[in-house]
Amino acid sequence: MADSANTIVNTSVRQKDPNEALVIAVTTRAIFNLEKEHEIFLAKGKDEYVKHQQDNENISLEPGTAFAFVQAVQSVNEKLLERNPEEKGLFDVIVLSNNSPESGMRIINSAKQHGLEISKFCFVSEEDSTQYLKTHNVKLFLSADRTDVCKALQRGVSAALIFQQEIQAPSTQLRVVFDGDAVLFSDETDRIFREKGLEEAVQYEKIMEAVPMGDGPLKAFALHLGKMRKKFGQEESSIRTYLVTARSGRDMGIRAIKTLREWGLAIDEAFFMDGAPKGPILSKIQPHIFFDDGLHNIQGAKDAGIPSALVPCDC
Ligand SMILES: [Mg+2]
Repeated sequence: MADSANTIVNTSVRQKDPNEALVIAVTTRAIFNLEKEHEIFLAKGKDEYVKHQQDNENISLEPGTAFAFVQAVQSVNEKLLERNPEEKGLFDVIVLSNNSPESGMRIINSAKQHGLEISKFCFVSEEDSTQYLKTHNVKLFLSADRTDVCKALQRGVSAALIFQQEIQAPSTQLRVVFDGDAVLFSDETDRIFREKGLEEAVQYEKIMEAVPMGDGPLKAFALHLGKMRKKFGQEESSIRTYLVTARSGRDMGIRAIKTLREWGLAIDEAFFMDGAPKGPILSKIQPHIFFDDGLHNIQGAKDAGIPSALVPCDC
């Protein structure tokens, strides 16, 4: 098969209704540890990379940063189906890959060996894979490639950049942590803080208190996740959502809470850190994924073994 061919492989996983499912697209380097292979690609070129992947076709890849997140959404699906075998509102995970179909076999084998429920594998070779996000109704795109993440955000799809890191294995309850400004919310207050300082930003928040903040890049995904969350009650929920923001609760908490209320987005727990490092609280929460636009926060989370995803604000 020619390298440029687009190949979509449907596995035997039960098909989900794309109109009702919450579709998450992950790239191969987000879900598996392909750093060694990526080095081969960069240093020796594509042919050597393909050869390496074919030679190792039956050797399972190690989990990557988004692996635990994918496992956790799968376990939420199991819980939802236990409650209602006819449930249509499930998570649907697809793999979008710039691998050619020839080198993709190892990816499919690895997913199978790890017991991952991936409904579609899309091997789109060197094309811009983000053009398929809207076609597949994707609500969250996780990639290890900054250009792809920026393209997805420009297409209006919630997206974040994954770095290869050592992660701890969290519990099965799906835990997702969002930062506030420039992630759930727009960066309007961040910009005032950067340009004019904290006092002006606090003043601005006071004046704007009754006005909900603008939409941030992860709002769409958070709303869909919120709908999934509502399928469970307060007790024994399989999903738990968190806001961990650098805002201070006293001066800047009210507008954040009012905005979430206005959006109808119920978050289980909110932490207003007043500029304190986020690592310690993230260590307590043990989320499967933490979204933030600040590299220092991402670094703090990585140091604590928390799977982190950067939402770039300078695309
Ligand atoms: Mg932020």
